[in-house]
Amino acid sequence: MTGTPAARPLLPRPRLFGELPTAFVALIGPPAVGKSTVAAALAEEVGATTFRLREFAQQSRIAGLLAAELFATTDPLGWFPDGTVDALLRAAFLYGRFPAEGVIVLESFPGNAVQLHLLHDIGRLRGAPLMVVELDAAPEVVMTRARARRVCPTCEPDPTGDPHAPAAADPDAPERCGRCDGALARRCSDRLDVIPARFGRYRHRLDAIRTCATQLDMPYRRIHASADRAAVASAVRSEIASIPGIRTAAVPSSIR
Ligand SMILES: [Zn+2]
Repeated sequence: MTGTPAARPLLPRPRLFGELPTAFVALIGPPAVGKSTVAAALAEEVGATTFRLREFAQQSRIAGLLAAELFATTDPLGWFPDGTVDALLRAAFLYGRFPAEGVIVLESFPGNAVQLHLLHDIGRLRGAPLMVVELDAAPEVVMTRARARRVCPTCEPDPTGDPHAPAAADPDAPERCGRCDGALARRCSDRLDVIPARFGRYRHRLDAIRTCATQLDMPYRRIHASADRAAVASAVRSEIASIPGIRTAAVPSSIR
């Protein structure tokens, strides 16, 4: 990470793509497979907007958009009940609380088949195509990445105390930030006592998500993600470009 960190806005600013239709790309994969990196590449290269449910929930809670009770959860991994997910998706994409156009990449969403159904229904209501992109890699590869991954609380001050962007370590001091020399940390969700449960839940729910995508007849692409991350991002970009009816912001012919 070499870019300048920016404070996250309360709600994303609307992006002006002219007449570009909206398309949803549900980007799933095991922890540390590279979803954030791919989402960042798509943001830069095709003007995609990244949607993270947990961030949007936090913004909605602060803004008082939804009843506070909705955010209560007893789930050991902190997941919201599907009813709360439904309310959040509707607020975001039907009631204009996430005012983005063009390609919207939902990072690490859906978490289960019910959530894919919800997103599918919203896509139909909006007339927006939906594609699921599954990043996959060997378990030992992602487990190693998850253990090594660090974030920088100094370079990415986060109001919830949960910085997200992967940080580059000082080559001479692996636990120090290569940019600010501050102490690096794990993401909250990368804690060693949490990671195995996240992997387990992902694997456990994946079959039902795939089955749901088949039943709903939506495009579903599996992309092997052990390779170089630029190559993975490029492969995902090609798949998105193939969505019928979508034209991405970086394609000059889309501006007519
Ligand atoms: Zn730093």
